[in-house]
Amino acid sequence: MRAYNFSAGPSTLPEDVLKEAQKDLLDFAGTGMSVTEISHRNKKFEAIVNEGEELLRELMNIPEDYAVIFVQGGASTQFAAVPLNLMHGGKADYIVTGNFAKKAFQEGKLYGDCAKVTSSEDRTYTYIPDVKNIPFRDDTDYVHICSNNTIFGTRYVEFPRTQAPLVADMSSEILSREIDVSRFGVIYAGAQKNLAPAGVTIVIAKRSLIQNPLPICPTMLQWKVQDENKSLYNTPPCFSIYIATLVLRRLKALGGVKAMSEINEYKAGLLYDFIDNSPFYSNGVEKKYRSVMNVPFVTPNAELDEAFIKGAAQQGLVSLKGHRLVGGMRASIYNAMPVEGVKALIAYMKKFEQENA
Ligand SMILES: *Cc1c(COP(=O)(O)O)cnc(C)c1O
Repeated sequence: MRAYNFSAGPSTLPEDVLKEAQKDLLDFAGTGMSVTEISHRNKKFEAIVNEGEELLRELMNIPEDYAVIFVQGGASTQFAAVPLNLMHGGKADYIVTGNFAKKAFQEGKLYGDCAKVTSSEDRTYTYIPDVKNIPFRDDTDYVHICSNNTIFGTRYVEFPRTQAPLVADMSSEILSREIDVSRFGVIYAGAQKNLAPAGVTIVIAKRSLIQNPLPICPTMLQWKVQDENKSLYNTPPCFSIYIATLVLRRLKALGGVKAMSEINEYKAGLLYDFIDNSPFYSNGVEKKYRSVMNVPFVTPNAELDEAFIKGAAQQGLVSLKGHRLVGGMRASIYNAMPVEGVKALIAYMKKFEQENA
């Protein structure tokens, strides 16, 4: 039996996609080879990359003047690529709402004058600062945010209006809700949370912003070069791109991002309602800013948390341990987590509460 996998990343993938990949693994598109064995210049592989890009453009309604590229190095490499491609004036603002936002800020500081213009550190990142009241500086090259905070379980409800281009790390929520891409200069996302196996990162960038990377920017990190080469400047992470394309096809067949976002709201609603109506479980995030993708929660004490996680694993509900910075539990309920998985988790939570309250 397949487990319900609540891991924050790498994370669960749709079962039908895995089955299709399994079928293709010995003979991809009549080549007599698997997709991991053929040249990335093979026309049949190029078709996969192009289809992946087209599907992303269609599903996210990405304007034509934006580049859509597949790159390597994870979202963490993009923490450096952002300043290396955009920091012409040597100055950027960062909003720090969690651990990855902080890492992006620290990386940015290696390249120029970066300011933490606001943060939610004072209450251990359990909310998002009011986006209408942020003391942005003048003449910055960009403003960086992390739209969904994977570890602390918060998300932006509204995005700030900025003079400088807005750059967003959307690793743990890309394609989970409708986003107006034109509001952003750059969106990037490691794919291993909501889209594909680890190894590929999506970058969506307004072309007019990326024509002059800094002279010290490595060629591999120049978004312009990756765009001009249609993500095939060097050998790309072929298998991850292939799986991403299958996941995107499936997302389209399910009705696209709007339909997915409704399912996601429903799943998260079931879980938060259950937690809020229980005297035993709690989630410390300010309600308005609760993430629809990552749901941290605790029982009354750490021993019970440990027993909860152990017992859950025996029921096939796995990877529920919270991040080491937060403790307790975290259920990551990305696009690929079926409604039945969330219902099974809630049924287990009920039983555990009855036995331990
Ligand atoms: C997981 C995650 C990262 C780190 O991604 P890597 O691909 O491991 O570098 C960065 N930002 C966010 C929001 C994440 O969830």
